[in-house]
Amino acid sequence: MAPSLGSIALLRSQPTPGHRPHRESGGIGRRAGFRFQADIFLIARAGRLLKARVARGNECKELTVSDRPHVVILGCGFGGVGACHRLSKANVDITLIDKNDYHTFQPLIYQVATAELDASTVGHPIRDLLHKHDNVRFHKAIVSGVDLEKKTVQIEGSDPLKYDYLIIGLGAQVNFFGVPGADEHAYPLYTIEHAVRLKKHILEVLEAADKDPSLVDDGALNVVVVGGGPTGVETAGALTDLFSVEFAQDYPNLPIDKARIIIVDAGPALLGPFKPNLQEYTKQAIEALGVELHLQNQVVEVTPSHAVLKSGETIPTHTVIWAAGLKANPVAQSLGVELGRGGRVPVEADLSLAGHPEVFVVGDISQATDAKTGQVLPQLGSVGIQAGTHAAVNIMKSVDGKSTEPFCYHNKGTMATIGRNAAVVELPGGITLTGELAWLAWGAVHLALLTGAESRASALVDWSWELFTHQRSKRIDIEL
Ligand SMILES: Cc1cc2nc3c(=O)[nH]c(=O)nc-3n(C[C@H](O)[C@H](O)[C@H](O)COP(=O)(O)OP(=O)(O)OC[C@H]3O[C@@H](n4cnc5c(N)ncnc54)[C@H](O)[C@@H]3O)c2cc1C
Repeated sequence: MAPSLGSIALLRSQPTPGHRPHRESGGIGRRAGFRFQADIFLIARAGRLLKARVARGNECKELTVSDRPHVVILGCGFGGVGACHRLSKANVDITLIDKNDYHTFQPLIYQVATAELDASTVGHPIRDLLHKHDNVRFHKAIVSGVDLEKKTVQIEGSDPLKYDYLIIGLGAQVNFFGVPGADEHAYPLYTIEHAVRLKKHILEVLEAADKDPSLVDDGALNVVVVGGGPTGVETAGALTDLFSVEFAQDYPNLPIDKARIIIVDAGPALLGPFKPNLQEYTKQAIEALGVELHLQNQVVEVTPSHAVLKSGETIPTHTVIWAAGLKANPVAQSLGVELGRGGRVPVEADLSLAGHPEVFVVGDISQATDAKTGQVLPQLGSVGIQAGTHAAVNIMKSVDGKSTEPFCYHNKGTMATIGRNAAVVELPGGITLTGELAWLAWGAVHLALLTGAESRASALVDWSWELFTHQRSKRIDIEL
């Protein structure tokens, strides 16, 4: 029989008064079984009547464990973390599920790809985040769907998990928009695995070209970045530094000065959602770093050795980085509701699913509308974390029999870095910053937002080291 996360979830230590902690099925022997029966007696006497199945030997038994509402949180990204943190002191039992055992700080994954930071600096162990949260249980597992009628979550290799309340924060994934060859040959940049794979690929291409210089004419030193949003701009800027400083010294036999870093974007300007003065500054700053821009153009085909543009031009390259689009996590499709743009799940003003006040959808997977402005909110970490927290508050209100409240996003500003001493910041109220001040603000904010003191310390050391020495010691290729 498949193991049941539902039964395990209801068997952990419960801080409910009069409710003694249980052990999981695997460790239950004869004496433990006796203790279980005593617990059942106590619990039943206290009138706590929720069911959990406990495997004892080969048997499965129905036991009474806790009457607290069971909140299941899917995804431990910004939305899931926000929700979990807010609910950790509430009178509920939480099961948190993520396919990884770490939380990813996506805004800095491009620095893993460009050898500036270690993967462990932008990924933080989820279990570490939960040490002080007695009512949360974490499972590393893959969610495959949600059954809204049965109020269960489908999990690969496990029995369905029952919930009283559900928060869906499964994020988004790369969208290749059906461009031929992109899925097979382009390098997306949305997860830590993507970043590690991209760094490995860049190093392998350089090593291959060093052995066989004819690959240079084949485009081995060229990188095409698809998408001129913050991810594309930040990645291209970081690559110019990596090539012009580190690789120039690492590969003295290669003509690194011939390397081309190219951004292709369908729009007329870089950083589409930013103000025009910041877009213009970004264009000038990134071109000053040597990045070629192909605006109002598109990559229409990717092969292992070139990218074809809509304009008809073919760029020889072995590295196409896809930073151009997202679509909602496919689990959204299992909800059976009409999905919005990019497969996002439309939600009510309080972030719940229409007709299902017990289900909340937050972050990149959701299509939430700002109660103040009526605008669809962007797929940003700040939106995700605020939405997760708001969904948690609404669940607490609902548990207490109160009405839920609409979600209002507090925009604290947006920013993007371009390269050394160059960044753009757009603050609420229309204030904008550029240059060194913006760059320092970008560094300070990202350092403060990174998860965990150790990650912050390690980013500070790596950034300072690179700032003063121009060296990135993370440019090693580990074979797995
Ligand atoms: C390169 C990059 C740079 C960015 N820079 C910024 C920035 O500077 N500022 C900003 O505000 N935002 C930025 N963003 C956007 C921001 O990171 C996202 O909006 C935010 O991560 C969304 O949070 P989320 O919780 O919805 O999803 P995510 O953070 O993506 O979390 C989803 C979680 O669900 C898990 N999961 C997915 N599928 C499954 C499954 N089937 N089963 C189990 N678990 C699953 C994943 O492992 C993940 O932990 C950036 C994004 C990227 C990709």
